Amino acid sequence: MNVLLTGGMGYIGSHTAVALLQAGHRVVLYDNLCNSDAGVLGCIGQIVGKAPLFIQADVRDTQTLSDALTRHEIDAVAHFAGLKAVGESAQKPLAYYANNVEGTVSLLEAMTRAGVCSLAFSGSATVYGEPRYLPLDEAHPLSATNPYGRTKLHIEEMLRDLSVSDPCWRIVCLRYFNPAGAHESGLIGESPSGIPNNLLPYVARVAAGELPSLSVFGDDYPTPDGTGVRDYIHVMDLAEGHVAALDWLGGHPGCHAINLGTGQGYSVLEMVEAFAKASERAIPYQIAPRRAGDVAACYADPGKALRELGWQARRGLADMCASAWNFQRRSRETGFR
Ligand code: NAD
Ligand code: UDP
Repeated sequence: MNVLLTGGMGYIGSHTAVALLQAGHRVVLYDNLCNSDAGVLGCIGQIVGKAPLFIQADVRDTQTLSDALTRHEIDAVAHFAGLKAVGESAQKPLAYYANNVEGTVSLLEAMTRAGVCSLAFSGSATVYGEPRYLPLDEAHPLSATNPYGRTKLHIEEMLRDLSVSDPCWRIVCLRYFNPAGAHESGLIGESPSGIPNNLLPYVARVAAGELPSLSVFGDDYPTPDGTGVRDYIHVMDLAEGHVAALDWLGGHPGCHAINLGTGQGYSVLEMVEAFAKASERAIPYQIAPRRAGDVAACYADPGKALRELGWQARRGLADMCASAWNFQRRSRETGFR
């Protein structure tokens, strides 16, 4: 299959490119590099033996996108491109609607022009809002608590409307839980610019001595140790979930939602302990107030992914921490992030 990956130079896109290439597919990466580095291309090339095709452009450039889909005889698109920082989305909502929602409209228009109708969309467990029950299955009611989450929700609704309007569409909204870790090579991984918002990249920088200590946001949640519980999923498992979903889409018209998670929740303190073990470094931390908008616990019912896609996460917490630490050390040595 020929697959175009919007946002393919980013964290999840680059790992998915590796998984697709290793499964024998051809890929074209399409990215404006607003949150990634051109050096990722060479790293993917080092892992798989040959750098993939790369087009530096914005998804809102509909003509360039539709030309790329036609020229490279694309069969399916994996749509990662978008902005993803929850806090920033409250400061700059228009940037988020423009990039995420308008960007997706442009992509769908380009796909229509080029006659490509298979799409895997990067959804998020954030569309479940405050959990009413756990584990979260795909039938859980949807809501959003911030502009980022609302863009994800609007896009899912738009995709459902589109699939109803024309039965040719084959769309899967993959609702990711908490992606973590890196490729085992340490060549690609998660490298947020500035101070990380997410737990694992923050902890990695504390372990490396680049940040003094971790603030644990709240220890009075109704969870076993009082700290927030999340479903961390190894990014290579997530990447392989995309390969399975794109294969599956061929026989499944319509618009589907599928969770990509492990079903296992870990608390912040369990994550700190696992990372300290993997890195053999102390992770100093202090308890801080709860972060606005955080929920106590969030983890997936991953049953649908197994039933439909025949996919389930294979890698555990130790692997997530060890690979994130390997990436952290390598990127310090090479100076490339
Ligand atoms: P990332 O920022 O590392 O990757 C996104 C890529 O898209 C970047 O390379 C960026 O340069 C590119 N991009 C952004 N806007 C673009 C545009 N208008 N045109 C072309 N390229 C553009 O993020 P990621 O963690 O790899 O996330 C990928 C997708 O998964 C996003 O849609 C995100 O919302 C979603 N998601 C991520 C997480 C997470 O925790 N990482 C969780 C749930 C969902
Ligand atoms: N967290 C924390 N300190 C940090 C970053 C995150 O205690 O510096 C906690 C956060 O409150 C949540 C968990 O770690 O319970 C995961 O947070 P993250 O931002 O990585 O993911 P999300 O909130 O999107 O699930």
